[in-house]
Amino acid sequence: MDWLSRFERALHKADRASLRGLFDPDCHWRDLLALTWDIRTVSGVDAVVSNLEQHSARNFRIDPERTPPRQVTRAGQQCTEVLFRFDAPDGPGAGVVRLFPDTQKAWTLLTALSDLAGHEEHVGTRRPKGQAYSRDFSGPNWLDQRNARAEYRDREPAVLVVGGGHAGLSIAARLTQRGIDTLIVDRHARVGDNWRTRYHALTLHNQVHVNHLPYMPFPPNWPVYIPKDKLANWFESYAEAMELNYWTGTEFQGGTYDPDGRWTVTLRRADGTRRTLRPRHVVLATGVSGIPNVPDIPALRNFPGKVIHSGQYVDGEDWRGKRAVVIGTGNSGHDIAQDLHSAGAAVTLVQRSPTLVVQCDPSAQLVYSLYSEGPPLEDCDLITTSVPLALARRTHQLATEHAKNLDRGLLEALERKGFRLDFGEDGTGWQFKYLTRGGGYYFNVGCSDLIVEGKIGLAPSAELERLLPGADLVVLATGWKGQEALVGRLFGEALAARVGPIWGFGADQELRNMFRRTAQPGLWFIAGSFAQCRIYSRYLALQIQSDLLAA
Ligand SMILES: Cc1cc2nc3c(=O)[nH]c(=O)nc-3n(C[C@H](O)[C@H](O)[C@H](O)COP(=O)(O)OP(=O)(O)OC[C@H]3O[C@@H](n4cnc5c(N)ncnc54)[C@H](O)[C@@H]3O)c2cc1C
Repeated sequence: MDWLSRFERALHKADRASLRGLFDPDCHWRDLLALTWDIRTVSGVDAVVSNLEQHSARNFRIDPERTPPRQVTRAGQQCTEVLFRFDAPDGPGAGVVRLFPDTQKAWTLLTALSDLAGHEEHVGTRRPKGQAYSRDFSGPNWLDQRNARAEYRDREPAVLVVGGGHAGLSIAARLTQRGIDTLIVDRHARVGDNWRTRYHALTLHNQVHVNHLPYMPFPPNWPVYIPKDKLANWFESYAEAMELNYWTGTEFQGGTYDPDGRWTVTLRRADGTRRTLRPRHVVLATGVSGIPNVPDIPALRNFPGKVIHSGQYVDGEDWRGKRAVVIGTGNSGHDIAQDLHSAGAAVTLVQRSPTLVVQCDPSAQLVYSLYSEGPPLEDCDLITTSVPLALARRTHQLATEHAKNLDRGLLEALERKGFRLDFGEDGTGWQFKYLTRGGGYYFNVGCSDLIVEGKIGLAPSAELERLLPGADLVVLATGWKGQEALVGRLFGEALAARVGPIWGFGADQELRNMFRRTAQPGLWFIAGSFAQCRIYSRYLALQIQSDLLAA
């Protein structure tokens, strides 16, 4: 393709004028490790050109194994979208360029490192031979070796992953396929308990084809919305199939980073014993929400009934025939109110601040429409990654407007009941609420209808005092503190201050401290949706591998 060869020539010669001629004034370049060894976005032709001209890469060509160039509409704008491959200085790269059809100038460019030359993933033609397990009749077989490896009796893991939900599983699978000795620890008794312990009726909010874990997609006969226990059991099979070392019933209690470039971490095992390990890297995969946010509500000080945070809620069985007040109108508040109602409790939901409500199906799925457009999963992931923040915001504004129209009947009925709605900053909708503050929205799976029908009560927080005298239970669905609070607790306030805010966008248009190098050597974070963890675990694993090779 002409643009790619002209780009390669200009890059090779560091020819500023030619480079400039290839980009629209309103352009964006996102790099995932390929040229900068960082995850970063720069915007505007001056910044893009002056950053690009410092780098070089070769062999840019349309990728014959990927979706061919095509006309698409992205963020409301027609463009030609081209998926390409190239040779980055450290390994094969993949990218996407979007050209304006009239000028053939680039609007967005993604360059992403796919693998590390000489240290490729052990998959496909590079898979292990397996001979070692079958030919030695007297020696330990595959299972003996696997069990022994997982005990870490006489060696240290290179990487310790704290938390074995989908974030922890994704990064551990990526690292393990790269031959990096990785151990997951999770305080739950069984792999998948992070889902099993959630409310009885839970099915996932997003459709199955968006939620695959790396390497091992869900079977094609699985339901569109996966029930939580089915997912939990899949996690168990996944950990086994991917040969992940996973210690259940094990709490990570904290650690210190030593001058020799290793951590000393303390783990509490299920039997109460403590174990110290010395990994080179620690990946926190403990979820976006770390520590419960329990506000001081004066009206509750003398409340004689039971007060729990949403994180402590298990189910409504004990509250049949009782009165419950649920404070907070995000997903947890709504789901708990609905669960209590279905168990036979009389429930009032107390609203503190305006909340975004979107019908789970189809409106909440609009932002994932790419995944049902036809390209294979790997291409959808690359295309998703290639959308810079400015375009993502515009895309989500458009999807939010569309959803508002689809959901108009429900939203108007809620407002008539006194529910205060909002649609996110600048109308960017639920996903930006998630990405910037980890909540503030509700995917309606029935609770909004119960509110509209008057089966679940709704009150503003000013009325809390009036509601309490008749209540038996108060649930604080008041959210969670940011992950930095957890970092302070586990590693000390000085380290937490050095790392700074986690999650939410920084000035560089990327999620802060997520999937990328932090100010603390050897400390990394992974969190977010299944899709985010599937996509970015690849790049996090590459960074950790590169550090280990350099050590
Ligand atoms: C009803 C509902 C539907 C959802 N649907 C979707 C969907 O369709 N798609 C999607 O992408 N997301 C969905 N989500 C959101 C999100 O993906 C989940 O909340 C998910 O659990 C986050 O995964 P995680 O691995 O980051 O963290 P978690 O699932 O929170 O796992 C963190 C793990 O870390 C462990 N841990 C924490 N601290 C320690 C410690 N000190 N020591 C040891 N272990 C520790 C915990 O035990 C836990 O198992 C949904 C959420 C809900 C509630």
